[in-house]
Amino acid sequence: MKESIALLIKIKGLVQGVGFRPYVYRQALRYSIHGWVENNNEGVTIHAEADSSVLDHFCEILKNEIPEAASISEFISKHTNFQSYKDFKIRKSSNLSDAVTEVSPDIAVCSACLSDMESQKHRRHYPFINCTNCGPRFTIIQDLPYDRHQTTMRVFDLCETCKKEYTTITDRRFHAQPVACLNCGPAYNLQNELIKDGKKLAQKLQSFIDSGQIIALKGIGGYHLICNALDDEIVKILRHRKQRDGKPMAVMARDLATAQKYFHLNKEETDLLTSWRRPIVLLQNKIPLAPSISRNLSRTGVVLPYMPIHYQLLSQLQTDIIILTSGNVSEEPVIIDDEIAREKLKNIADFIISYNREIFNRADDSVAFVVNQRSRLIRRSRGYAPQPIVISLKTEGIFAAGAELVNTFAIGKGLQAILSQHIGDLKNAETLSFYEESVERYKRLFRFKPELIVCDKHPDYLSTQFAFEQNLPILQVQHHHAHVASCMAENNLDEKVIGIALDGTGLGTDNTIWGGEYLIADLNDFTRAFHFDPIPLPGGDLVTKQPWRTAFSYLYHYFGLSIFIEKPAIELLPDQKQLPIFIQMIEQKLNSPLSSGAGRLFDAVSALLGICRESSFHAEAPMLLEAAINSSCKGKYLYEIEGQKVVFRKMFFQIIQDLKNGVNKGDIASKFHNTLVAINVNISKQIRNEFGINKVVLSGGSFQNAYLLQMTEETLMHHGFEVFSQEKVPANDGGISLGQLAIAAKKRQLGLI
Ligand code: ZN
Ligand code: ZN
Ligand code: FE
Repeated sequence: MKESIALLIKIKGLVQGVGFRPYVYRQALRYSIHGWVENNNEGVTIHAEADSSVLDHFCEILKNEIPEAASISEFISKHTNFQSYKDFKIRKSSNLSDAVTEVSPDIAVCSACLSDMESQKHRRHYPFINCTNCGPRFTIIQDLPYDRHQTTMRVFDLCETCKKEYTTITDRRFHAQPVACLNCGPAYNLQNELIKDGKKLAQKLQSFIDSGQIIALKGIGGYHLICNALDDEIVKILRHRKQRDGKPMAVMARDLATAQKYFHLNKEETDLLTSWRRPIVLLQNKIPLAPSISRNLSRTGVVLPYMPIHYQLLSQLQTDIIILTSGNVSEEPVIIDDEIAREKLKNIADFIISYNREIFNRADDSVAFVVNQRSRLIRRSRGYAPQPIVISLKTEGIFAAGAELVNTFAIGKGLQAILSQHIGDLKNAETLSFYEESVERYKRLFRFKPELIVCDKHPDYLSTQFAFEQNLPILQVQHHHAHVASCMAENNLDEKVIGIALDGTGLGTDNTIWGGEYLIADLNDFTRAFHFDPIPLPGGDLVTKQPWRTAFSYLYHYFGLSIFIEKPAIELLPDQKQLPIFIQMIEQKLNSPLSSGAGRLFDAVSALLGICRESSFHAEAPMLLEAAINSSCKGKYLYEIEGQKVVFRKMFFQIIQDLKNGVNKGDIASKFHNTLVAINVNISKQIRNEFGINKVVLSGGSFQNAYLLQMTEETLMHHGFEVFSQEKVPANDGGISLGQLAIAAKKRQLGLI
């Protein structure tokens, strides 16, 4: 007979609040392993006794067949003293101190719960069903350790049956903190009627939605507005009432087959769409929906049901696809409070459906897309936050304030960066107070004591001003250095790299606006090796709404006044009489800051092509230009590199010639994108030749452009470069806080601050 041995196994990662301990317990029973498992501040620790081949197998299973939402970042097992345990136990959590562990993101309802909801006619036929593998987490957590009385489920006393499940180790609902049933859990509220029967509620909502009305439905992380996505009239009404001019809206499809009916999906997109994180995934349109959903864009944001009520609702509806857009007015944060919802959504929605459990932490739907078989984030929130990003630097005590648009902030714990959920554009008062409130909540939840603050160089960002109000040591970081560092940090790079930051705006070290940047950077510092030609932006901030201004400026910059006597340049100005005014603005540098922003170049080309001269939402012009691409066209334009400047004179000249010659706009859009890819590759080669650096890091908002990202990655790799891009955090300003945190951590490690 083989001799029994004992192993001490330490597992770090997302292993708490995701059913990991009961899972370990069940595996131990299955293989007759004795010992114990416990949660502690480092993750999960297991003491396992059995013969060595059984323990080998046990370790393999723990590494490879973990609960869906769990993830392991570190797995260490070592021999320990054999203690002859007689059984296997889940021990009480030990030393949950300040070095607090991970908080699970919210998890889409699992298939086992869905079949419970179908099959069990009574208690479990219930729209707040959940188990250790699924349900709300972050959005209901008020404090740690993660225990029911520290969540907004606190006010619901467990019924006897639920309590039994909650305390039975072998039950799927063992220690499922939000566990609830028809007898004891929350209820929906429609016009003051409390409804716990999801099917009954769904039947009522069916009649509203199929008859062309708009409903507001309280979700996991905030309210949604819902209507039929095939009825253009109602979509237009929703847009109008929500004061949402042109920004595309997301849709929820009944199931995967429905998504496949309306959209093109590859394997990775299917995996992402059906993952437990349930992000909105940008997919290529196949069959058109209501035209007002995304205007002339070729992709639509699509999500599958993730709450029980979504499944129940979509199974009742005649339509198989609905608009699911955030319940807010214009740019304000998504509404989570029932009172505010009644007040602010009453003029948007025909019916408001709340439920009587509080949403504590707001979380918008996350938005993702797939490029080169990998998932990329545009907005990181529900299902992702607050899962930490493990980086290889000590971050403890560092607070990173983030940028201004699509803000997130980050706190440093151990070797981790914990990024906040998507906060939004800090320009309005509601969003700023959401930011300030969330900072306080993260401090408490993660036992975080800030010692060092890092923020953007831009003095006007409200995040920068917030940083200065903290009265702590402060570090200001250049915006595009932070973009590059963000990508480096998530890829664990700590060396000199070629950093390509193609972006909208960020303040440069010379006080002009940067955004088409080729840096030689490490985490500590950078040099600006090459950059796009800076041009004046007549009207300042106004140019993002009126891309024709930027196009005008480029043409005037390269060709002078003479270009404006003929098409297509002459068509740029809405009113010819304004011509002298613009010339004067540029010549006398009146409200015409210099910018090398890549976003502005996209704007200019989009406007010159007549694709988008006036923009109704952020980045519409570049998005429409991308949507126009004819990818079979492989041509490109000429450009020059003069010193450190990438000059686009020849490219604009050729675009104008193409327009005059009636070349198809899809081909022009393609040639423009291909030109940028060529520039990215050629500059990388120049830097490699001179400095011997072979790693290229891609970041900045322009890399949300799928074509640009795909082609740049492919072409760089084809030329032998090691290429790194962003997957864990957005390439846009939502990822800036991670970069700031990494730079501060590195400087502190080097003793520079
Ligand atoms: Zn479940
Ligand atoms: Zn119950
Ligand atoms: Fe940026």
